[in-house]
Amino acid sequence: MQTERICGECSGRNVGAGDFCRHCGKPLNPAHSTAGRAVHSSPLPVPPAMSPVENAANLFFRSESAYGGPTLIGTESLGIILFNGGFELRSVVIRVEGRSKNGARVLDLEKSIDHLPRGRETCVDVPSYDIHEPLHSVRVSLISAEYP
Ligand SMILES: [Zn+2]
Repeated sequence: MQTERICGECSGRNVGAGDFCRHCGKPLNPAHSTAGRAVHSSPLPVPPAMSPVENAANLFFRSESAYGGPTLIGTESLGIILFNGGFELRSVVIRVEGRSKNGARVLDLEKSIDHLPRGRETCVDVPSYDIHEPLHSVRVSLISAEYP
């Protein structure tokens, strides 16, 4: 006898051992269903020069000067550009950490983003007054998110 599983997202009935709902495509395994951490079954190609967001699936970022220049090595505002190649997300909270050349953590803050649509780049600004020293590297990790 085959197991039937009800999708937590769309309440659709699924028979068999698939990992994803055949109605809406969202993950059926609750362990993998935390928003932002579920791997999409058909992730979009990642734009060049982007790094994975930690603790997230299909989320990527790059950092640049808010003035549109190359990677920030000064104390201007910082732009974090996020790319969502997976499920659409809402109420996203990320942590942005920056380190100076000698490895000291000189930036550590949380940012909220209302909406990360699938396949779109979204820019998050970190104002220069939050950055106390020139940044050498930037890390972004996912704290929480919700499905729409
Ligand atoms: Zn479903």
